[in-house]
Amino acid sequence: MTQLGSDIQYLPGVGPKRAMLLKNELGVATFSDLIHLYPFRYIDRSSIQRIAEVTPDVAHVQVMARVIRATLYGPGSSVFVQRNQAGVEIDNCPADKNGVKVLRFNAVKRLSVIVADSTGEMEMVFFKGIKWNWDRLTPGSVFVFFGKPQLFGKRLNILHPEVDNPPSQADMPGNVGTLTGVYTSTEKLKNSGITGKVMNRLQASALNACLPEIEETLPEYILREKDLVPLRFALRNIHFPQDADALTKASYRLKFEELFFLQLSLLKQKYIRSRSEVGIRMPKVGEPFNALYKRLPFDLTGAQKRVIKEIRADLTSGHQMNRLLQGDVGSGKTMVAVLSCLIAYGNGYQSCIMAPTEVLSQQHYANVSRYLEGSGVRCALLTGSSTAKERREIHAGLEDGSIAILIGTHALIEEDVRFRALGLAVIDEQHRFGVDQRSKLWAKGPGVPPHILVMTATPIPRTLAMTLYGDLDVSVIDELPPGRKPVQTMLIGQGKRRALYKFMRDEIAKGRQVFVVYPLIFESEKMDLKNLEEGYEDIVKAFPLPDYKVAIVHGQQTNEVKNFNMSAFAAGRADILVSTTVIEVGVDVPNASVMVIESAQRFGLSQLHQLRGRVGRGSEKSFCILVKDEKVSKESQRRLDLMCATENGFELAEEDMKMRGPGDLEGTQQSGLPIALNIASLVRDGTILSEARVYAEHILESDPFLSSPRNLPLMKELQKDKYNIKDYSKIS
Ligand code: ADP
Ligand code: MG
Repeated sequence: MTQLGSDIQYLPGVGPKRAMLLKNELGVATFSDLIHLYPFRYIDRSSIQRIAEVTPDVAHVQVMARVIRATLYGPGSSVFVQRNQAGVEIDNCPADKNGVKVLRFNAVKRLSVIVADSTGEMEMVFFKGIKWNWDRLTPGSVFVFFGKPQLFGKRLNILHPEVDNPPSQADMPGNVGTLTGVYTSTEKLKNSGITGKVMNRLQASALNACLPEIEETLPEYILREKDLVPLRFALRNIHFPQDADALTKASYRLKFEELFFLQLSLLKQKYIRSRSEVGIRMPKVGEPFNALYKRLPFDLTGAQKRVIKEIRADLTSGHQMNRLLQGDVGSGKTMVAVLSCLIAYGNGYQSCIMAPTEVLSQQHYANVSRYLEGSGVRCALLTGSSTAKERREIHAGLEDGSIAILIGTHALIEEDVRFRALGLAVIDEQHRFGVDQRSKLWAKGPGVPPHILVMTATPIPRTLAMTLYGDLDVSVIDELPPGRKPVQTMLIGQGKRRALYKFMRDEIAKGRQVFVVYPLIFESEKMDLKNLEEGYEDIVKAFPLPDYKVAIVHGQQTNEVKNFNMSAFAAGRADILVSTTVIEVGVDVPNASVMVIESAQRFGLSQLHQLRGRVGRGSEKSFCILVKDEKVSKESQRRLDLMCATENGFELAEEDMKMRGPGDLEGTQQSGLPIALNIASLVRDGTILSEARVYAEHILESDPFLSSPRNLPLMKELQKDKYNIKDYSKIS
């Protein structure tokens, strides 16, 4: 039995009771789990402030101070008990029947602790954990207090500070540093005596027991090339840093390693696939592509050209393409998709373009038909509302190969849709498709899976894309076609509603159209609908017939009604479209110049950006008006201000990720992260991630199967369960 795998209860100082707690509260079941639980911050004994120098305008302070006086307050700030170093000064507790005063903690409202160092006094305040802190913070004892100072009356205090014992060197193995690790803790852990100091001691004994067993996970040559410290050094110093420099090196090594192995495992799958998975070879550009290219009324942007080259290279490689095409709304992804379909056609293969909604499919169909007019290339539209007769014709055209491009909703992956030779499948807005549907598409190839191009307008920050789609190739259109007019974004409060309506009337008088979007506020769809319908009635009152026509679209309508209303707006038969976020994806109404977003603070930045992308598609100046509710938080205000300040979707997505964390990013909730990260952060460690990825690529280039002896340790690490990541390429 190795020490690393030993049950945590056998670590000196733990035992069965604490072991249960460690497991339930922190997920620590073995010695190994414990030493992979890293401090989340460090107490720096060299950076302890003097109380006289503490000001309320800093984020955190750390003071080392002696407890002078502790006071328990009951209701209405009445003093229950107060004590100082000499003992109890005041005791107002009621007496029991024997005349003994009894302190009942459930009647106590607040604990105030006055602490002092040689320069001054300050107060620590607790509304929670009162008993625990009362028992612990006995007058005369010294602690390190960490937290945000605030000015209360004339006195500085810290509400619920983190309290640690002053670090003592005896607790750490061979450690002479000034940095002491602070670990995540919980009330229950503290109550069972697992304090910060005890945690340090447990870590020390676990490390002492396990370090000799720790095997280096990275080959010697990588440590050398990337200038990384050895694993044992890193583990020792992440828990007990010798100094700040050693800590930096330790943390860099552990973060790099974590991100490197993640990338290595994803990229390895990709390399193996690209070598083994046979793809349809499409060697020529072909006549249909060239013909359209010449006829285009505009030049492709540099980004479009670059992406087409990337796709071309995939199509000629003989391996299956799995490419994610990212580009802001209106950046010309559809154009790229159509040109790619024509390459397939020029090589004798059919294509399909799959869109998440009927309206979007129709729109794609209309655009593609327009591009292909007079070219003799046949495309067809297949959706849930295609008639039986249409279906029969389409099925025949697909099977005899006369239809080159099939456009549609998920109707096109139905059983009875059979292609003569499907060579390319384009999926628009991938996250609206289920895993199941995607794999059905795979099976439609001519014995060989078709090439896959997934298009998304959700700007996924680079770091996240690298992790989520580590084994997909990513192309980015990072340039808008020339001549786009920026959308002017404004933020208004409820008080400006009349001015807003006047502005809308003026725009409508100029022949423009207006979107009004309501958020999904409530959990229950009924409540959401109510919110939307009230808004609709408001608008109808302010914009009455016969001068104005208002359409409404929401998720509770049948597809028929939805399509009817949406088409009415798209065709210009309605001036205003009131809707929920169903219009978020793709609809193109170039004549719409105003996007009004109600309760804008309730949307994520990426979502606001998608909505804003619905306007600014025509030649007119366009506006996005964010209407906020009376009370919005500081953070929401900041987000809305940022929306007004930038139109860069990637910048907004990065910001969204910083504020809400990667898991919440619009459009990525379903994907989740392939594995949980222990020390690295996608938000903060983007640079290390890129470095790790480039390096992983570099290694796989010369040894894609990691079969050379020097890469044996890498292979060994990747065999661990946690890298058993499902193959994203097959489901995307
Ligand atoms: P996306 O699918 O990325 O939202 P589209 O392909 O629908 O963007 O393009 C949006 C609009 O821009 C379409 O009307 C299209 O014809 C036009 N467009 C595409 N590429 C260019 C270009 N290079 N120059 C000018 N207009 C373009
Ligand atoms: Mg589009």
